Amino acid sequence: MNNPRVAINGAAGRMGRQLLLALAEHPSCELGAAAEYAGHASVGHQVALLEPAYADRSDARDVIDALPPVVDQFDVCVDFTRPDVTLAMMSALAGTDKSFVVGTTGFDANGVAQLEQVAKEHAVVFAPNFSVGVTLTLGLLEAAAASLGDDYDVEIIEAHHRNKVDAPSGTALRMGQSVAKALNRDLDACAVYGRQGITGVRDHKTIGFETVRAGDIIGDHTVLFAGQGERIEITHRATDRMTFARGAIRAAHWVSSQPPGLYDMTHVIGLG
Ligand code: NAD
Repeated sequence: MNNPRVAINGAAGRMGRQLLLALAEHPSCELGAAAEYAGHASVGHQVALLEPAYADRSDARDVIDALPPVVDQFDVCVDFTRPDVTLAMMSALAGTDKSFVVGTTGFDANGVAQLEQVAKEHAVVFAPNFSVGVTLTLGLLEAAAASLGDDYDVEIIEAHHRNKVDAPSGTALRMGQSVAKALNRDLDACAVYGRQGITGVRDHKTIGFETVRAGDIIGDHTVLFAGQGERIEITHRATDRMTFARGAIRAAHWVSSQPPGLYDMTHVIGLG
């Protein structure tokens, strides 16, 4: 699709506002709708109040509290909200021809199964991290783990701002999956989340996760491979949420011309 019209669900959020700006910057996407929950202060007001770039744009609209009534005004819905909100939105749009970009994190196994079900009828890009740098880092991690094998202990340390509500981050878990896959391990069986008290010696086939929540950190991830006499650390640091927003809008443009299926950012940037 040449100029897909994009709905932003959760438009007033930290990511929502950045998505509005990234959309305004994109040369061949336009805003189709901006939604928040019923009762949010922005509903009924011009989207330019959330993102000033819309002050003189022809695709500026009022923020609405439900997408189904404007279903003919957008092609793709980009959602960075909460798992229950994402699934309710998808359920409300079932039976339409809409595509989805889901950046929301914190889905449980049941939630992921519901996303997979939706992807049988719709094109869905679902990624815990839309930055191109993290997407490339996942490939580096697989290569490192495959070369280093079981002789190196793997620990994943992530840091985010104080308002993040889920832990460990979706990106840390995705990094863990890349490492576990390369080491022929099942992440569910080998993951250890935090440590306290008399833990005993480290089982060398575990993958450890440590979480930091502090201040305004946008998103830091380090994967540590520690062997005898040396350590390798692969680190990604996000310094601006626009990196996620630009990636998500790139995904929205890409997914608008894809058949139903579940995709991630590797497909969007041509690595998948
Ligand atoms: P946020 O709390 O600032 O924003 C969420 C927004 O959703 C809020 O404005 C809220 O009012 C809105 N919302 C709540 N209920 C709604 C409803 N029923 N309908 C429409 N909107 C509704 O959070 P955030 O920091 O923007 O993060 C949102 C999600 O995105 C989190 O899960 C976070 O982990 C994830 N995230 C993902 C990436 C990525 O690259 N995939 C990057 C950053 C954040």
